[in-house]
Formats: sequence, structure tokens, C-alpha cells
Amino acid sequence: MNTITVVGSINQDTTLYVQAMPKPGETIRINKMVVSGGGKGANQAIAAQRLGAKTAFIGAVGADHAGEGMLALLRKESIDVAGVAVLAQETTGQAFISVDAHGENSIMINAGANTKFDAAHVRKYRHAIKNSDFVIVEFESPVADSVAAFEIAHKAGVKTILNPAPALKEIPTELLALTDLIVPNETETEILTGIKVTDEKSMTQAAAKLISFGVGTVVITLGSRGVYYHVGNQSGLIPALKVKAVDTTAAGDTFIGAVASVLRPNFANITEALTYGNRASALTVQKLGAQNAIPFKRDLD
Ligand code: ATP
Repeated sequence: MNTITVVGSINQDTTLYVQAMPKPGETIRINKMVVSGGGKGANQAIAAQRLGAKTAFIGAVGADHAGEGMLALLRKESIDVAGVAVLAQETTGQAFISVDAHGENSIMINAGANTKFDAAHVRKYRHAIKNSDFVIVEFESPVADSVAAFEIAHKAGVKTILNPAPALKEIPTELLALTDLIVPNETETEILTGIKVTDEKSMTQAAAKLISFGVGTVVITLGSRGVYYHVGNQSGLIPALKVKAVDTTAAGDTFIGAVASVLRPNFANITEALTYGNRASALTVQKLGAQNAIPFKRDLD
């Protein structure tokens, strides 16, 4: 069983289902409101834990009801939340998602506590990182915290996974040099490399560019097309499962958590791990919602 530390974001998601989005100055009625757990970091930690890993989390919430609720959700999954700071002066990260009758959404995010924990906080929980097989970071938390986490990991021989989402135009070169595995989607790949991934040729070119930045291994997620991987002198496409997708929220987070939970730290079983990731996220896209759509290992067995 892999041990994983996620350094990342925790949000409370509030989804408001409306007939049509309000115009400026207009007051409208909400048909249904759903409050749920979210944040890329929390989703990835839940995916890793449900899909077979022992998972610890480093991040922050505010000292408020949302923070208590989100921490309770992680504890319920038996995720180690000792490394989650409760910041008295901050609010818990919140995402407000409106969905209209056509399924179009608009999202507003208050990052809150997610951007207020610093590298010193990460270093305080270095033991969790040092005792892991993999550490995962994304960009809903400060980049300096990701660098601190990867430095600790690198020194301890722990493998690092970077999910460069939401996309940043410029990623510090020191972070890329410390990245063993980068997992961008198609949009993030294009923003990072300037190469639009359409066919296997452009995927190979984009992967080569990412490797020239100092990254070890590249896995590009391609939505319903599956994944492209480039590890050592091996590369190829692993197609997604053909399923009827109803909501792709958290597909990418499920994929990363799943892969990290079964991948051997020497990457020897990378193609099996990616196939496991495809299978896990194929289940996620067939269910509505984010965290409640993330499957358990038994669902795949
Ligand atoms: P999201 O932001 O929606 O969580 P993402 O953009 O980070 O997702 P994607 O590349 O869309 O990531 O999807 C991740 C993985 O999920 C894919 O590599 C694939 O395995 C699976 N997946 C996504 N969409 C589908 C689909 N329609 N059918 C089957 N599998 C899918």
C-alpha cells in the first residue's frame, strides 16, 4: 500500500441550480442548493485514500463552520489531517458554482485560507512527506509551498507528482526540476509548452518540451481520449474507457489519486497504474458531483 502526502487546497463548494443566470441588478430564485466538499487537493487526497493509499494532508482552513465541515469530511475518510492549519483570521476556501437549466456553469472562488499557509507550515509537517512514497501538489495553494514540499521530498528520496492546475503561465524552474511526474490536461499542456496537443506527434513534442524543463516523466490526460505517457524511452497512448459521461468534475483529481495509490516509486508499473487511473475516472464521470463521485477500490475490483 502506498503512503501519500497531498499538499494542497480544501474548499467548500456551494452549487446553486437556477433556471437562468441573474443579469446585473436582478434578483432570482434558486431551485436547489447543494453544499459539498471540494478543492483539488482534498479531491486528490480522497481519491488516493479510497483507491488504496494511506493519505496525509497538508493545507489550511479558516476557523469557521465551513472549515469544520470540510475537515470532518476528510477525517471520515480516515485521512490524516494533523497537517491542516486552522487559521483564526482567515475564511475557509469557498467555491460558488451556479448551474443554469442548460447545464452551463459559472464559478467564483474565494481562495481564503488555501493561499495563506506558508512554506514554514509545510516544513513543520516534513515528517509526513519524508514517510511517503509520493507527494502530490497542485496550484490552488501557494507555489512556494509546493517548492518547499518537493525540496523535502527530493532530499528524502520521495517521488513528486505535480498537477499544474489551475494553469500558471510560468512555473518556477526549481519546481519543475524537482518534479518526477507531471500530470497536466490538454489545456494546461498547451499553456505550459505552447504546443496544442491534437495527435500523437504533438503529444510527443509537448512531452519533450516538458522534459527539457527538467521534469522526469510526463502523463497528459486527454479527457475521453484517455492519457498519453512518456517515461524514459517508453511512450504511448492508453485509451479511456467508453462510458456515458454525465459530469466530468473531479475526473482529473480521481485519475491522479488513483495513479499515485498504485504506482511503484520506480515507475516500473506505469502503464498498469495509468490503466487503473483511467478505470477509476471512468467511474467518476458517470456520476454527478465531485467527491461523492470518486469511487472506492472495491468498485474497481
Ligand atoms: P477535470 O478538470 O474535469 O477534473 P481534467 O481536465 O483535469 O478533468 P481530463 O483529461 O478531462 O482531466 O480527464 C482525466 C481522466 O479522466 C482522463 O484521462 C480519462 O481517463 C478520464 N475521463 C475524462 N473524461 C472521460 C470520458 N468522457 N469518458 C471516459 N473517461 C474520461
